[in-house]
Amino acid sequence: MTLKKSLQKSEANPLQPKVILAVGAHPDDIDIGCSGTVAKLTKEGGAAYYLVLTDGSKGSEDLKISNKKLIKIRKSEQQKAANILGVKKVFFLNFVDGELENTPALRKQIVKIIRQIKPTTVICWDPTLYYDESRMFINHPDHRKAGETTLDSVYPFARNARSFPELLDEGLKPHVVEELLFINFSKANYFVDITGTIDKKLEALAYHQSQFADIGKFKERIKEMSKMTGQKATPKVEFAESFVRIILRKPA
Ligand SMILES: [Zn+2]
Repeated sequence: MTLKKSLQKSEANPLQPKVILAVGAHPDDIDIGCSGTVAKLTKEGGAAYYLVLTDGSKGSEDLKISNKKLIKIRKSEQQKAANILGVKKVFFLNFVDGELENTPALRKQIVKIIRQIKPTTVICWDPTLYYDESRMFINHPDHRKAGETTLDSVYPFARNARSFPELLDEGLKPHVVEELLFINFSKANYFVDITGTIDKKLEALAYHQSQFADIGKFKERIKEMSKMTGQKATPKVEFAESFVRIILRKPA
């Protein structure tokens, strides 16, 4: 299927209010990548949950701040941002920032949360995005690992009864996720109009003060990017977020 056909197909199946799980490696990843979409879905009656895999302990060049303090600050920033977006709960797994790996232990934790909250949609960063030479952008390894581990957790492990059988004893039955949205600023087959929630996105980003020397400048950059993304959508919209969307088949 061509990208154009696939885009038309996805636009014929717009997002509906349902249960969303957004997964990021660090506090702020989800808000940068898809908080406009999250705010839109919660506004329309959907339930959204955040899952942050690492403790964010590498996210400062200021060595005077202790790891412990930095972790606390970043969690608080993430929680405040999630609150104004209407997110029901933020799960923090506290793996060490910069050391994320796709392991059975991490997959089990993600599968456990998927089976608990039963999302229809899972959003994470695209694991195939290593770099983008057109923007001179290199993706953080934790972002790739978070995407890869989430993808594997959605398919096959969360839906497979023989994977992590001990979870069945906790009452956590297999769950089939309906769609995956990969955050990828370089390629996309699906656009979400966030014109009505761009202000919420910018408000959420402003909570991540520890991450940006000039938060005003960063917000302007995000606004400009969202505007450019809106121009790529069909039909064009004022502001958009873009994704690679995979609709998953139900088991036969
Ligand atoms: Zn990050």
